[in-house]
Amino acid sequence: MNYAENILGTIGNTPMVKMNALVKDLPCLVLAKYETFNPGNSVKDRMALQMVEDAEAAGVLKPGGTIIEGTSGNTGMGLALAAIIKGYKMICVISDKQSKEKMDILRAVGSEVVVCPTNVDPEDPRSYYSTSKRLAEETPNSWYVNQYDNPSNCKAHFNSTGPEIWDQTEGKVTHFVVGVGTGGTISGVGSYLKMKNPNVKVWGIDTYGSVFKKYKETGIFDENEIYPYITEGIGEDILPLNVNFSVIDGFTKVTDKDAAVYTRRLAKEEGMFLGNSAGSAIKGLLQLNEEGKFGPDDVVVVLFHDHGSRYVGKMFNDDWMRERGFLDQEYKVASDLIKN
Ligand code: PMP
Repeated sequence: MNYAENILGTIGNTPMVKMNALVKDLPCLVLAKYETFNPGNSVKDRMALQMVEDAEAAGVLKPGGTIIEGTSGNTGMGLALAAIIKGYKMICVISDKQSKEKMDILRAVGSEVVVCPTNVDPEDPRSYYSTSKRLAEETPNSWYVNQYDNPSNCKAHFNSTGPEIWDQTEGKVTHFVVGVGTGGTISGVGSYLKMKNPNVKVWGIDTYGSVFKKYKETGIFDENEIYPYITEGIGEDILPLNVNFSVIDGFTKVTDKDAAVYTRRLAKEEGMFLGNSAGSAIKGLLQLNEEGKFGPDDVVVVLFHDHGSRYVGKMFNDDWMRERGFLDQEYKVASDLIKN
């Protein structure tokens, strides 16, 4: 018989899928590391389990304890799965720009959800950073995860995602392209791939309204770069310790509109029903191609973080798109398809 001991045993070993329609004009092979096959439908299951197991080993998470985290949803889902199997309570602190689907999903797997305003400074007591810290101080026998600065986040990707990408490409990967939020995915995978082959190039996808690109290029943390944006899961107004800038060759920024339009194109043209940051990642990859970054022998791996079901009320909803002036490109896509 072949079975996992519990749902946590199904984390990782996700498929790699060749991209076709959206990259048909590119000179190189483009492969998608398809993370929605994890049980919580996102890559974050990997780091959630690693963080929980490392906290148990370090004695900071004790039997019957409460796990507390500020999370945009996916990390919360991974932590909630670990909490169920291992017998912990789970509280997720989430910002109000996150999709309602994400909040409902967290509640469905037994997590308590505390919602905070998005557009306040991280130091503001109402922010989700401050609220999660405060709850952790007030709740007895609790453990505050802090995925931004927790080294187990990056470690999970160094130990699992990176080696899987290396093995699935038989060591032929030349470029890795991925959205950056806490930085765990890019830093863990990037360090592993560069350890195996220092010539591998690692590109981060950033959003307008986030500090990463400017910081990488100038070393300056420029507060003028910070303003509200719609894209979920990537970009930050802080510099998390998990972003290891030394393994990142550069960033490209993708607009909210392009991210939304390309999330829809992935579904309609590749059959890849994915989350908002996947649209950013593939559009960013196309921008890098326009800058001449890829050649004919290259094997470019792009990682897709989460599943489209979390965004049915947003990018996949025509009214939501129309209200933001994002729909005109969809008509262009439709007419392009008719032309072809
Ligand atoms: N996309 C989505 C949907 C996410 O939830 C996250 C995590 N914030 C990311 C991308 C970025 O991944 P990381 O935190 O590892 O940089």
